[in-house]
Amino acid sequence: MNEPALRLEAIVKTYNRGRPNAVEVLRSVSLSLEAGEVVALVAPSGAGKSTLLHIAGLLDTADAGRVSIAGRDLTQAPDRTRTEARRRDVGFVYQFHHLLPEFSAAENVILPQLANGTGKAAAADRATVLLDRVGLSGRADHRPAALSGGEQQRVAFCRALANAPRILLADEPTGNLDPATSDVVFDVLLELVRDTGLSALIATHNPDLAARMDRTVRLEDGTLI
Ligand code: ADP
Repeated sequence: MNEPALRLEAIVKTYNRGRPNAVEVLRSVSLSLEAGEVVALVAPSGAGKSTLLHIAGLLDTADAGRVSIAGRDLTQAPDRTRTEARRRDVGFVYQFHHLLPEFSAAENVILPQLANGTGKAAAADRATVLLDRVGLSGRADHRPAALSGGEQQRVAFCRALANAPRILLADEPTGNLDPATSDVVFDVLLELVRDTGLSALIATHNPDLAARMDRTVRLEDGTLI
């Protein structure tokens, strides 16, 4: 039987626990992301969607509950193991591109691969393939400042996929773009995800974008419904 790409079991998270200003953000969140599945995460602002994505992506730890990637429980794993798993298995995309301004589009896609132990030539080849797939082969040598908002975000998708992760976690990936650009760029992201067969959890406020995914989960009052 195939394990889910990502499994969250009864995740609990409270900020400032035990203090008067405690914020109980996640009360009990459980979610399985099957291999190849693309799920929309819809939540009102402040509901805890970034918190959930950070815990799922091993950037933050929960107070209780378990996080497993491809059947491997990483909840209590040492920091080094969690960091390795994150580098290898998880790609992140944020609302803002967060590309390194002094490097070209291609270099921004190459660098995470070098950090993951890929050789220079193979990393450059993969960057070329990815940038080509998102329609940016003519922009590979441009720095982020010389790219449009939609192009910057497409480079950010390529960077997230550079190490061929199992899971893509995206927080409003087209939220900074005007509606028409957002629509086109979101299609590029979905195509890339479908082509590579990876699983994705994509936070969005936009019902039209959510409708293009396999299913929608809503985060309300600290649980998924
Ligand atoms: P969303 O992404 O859905 O807008 P967040 O996950 O960013 O929500 O935040 C959820 C709640 O937790 C908010 O009320 C926010 O103010 C609070 N919060 C987030 N991070 C911290 C933190 N480091 N310390 C205290 N409270 C936090």
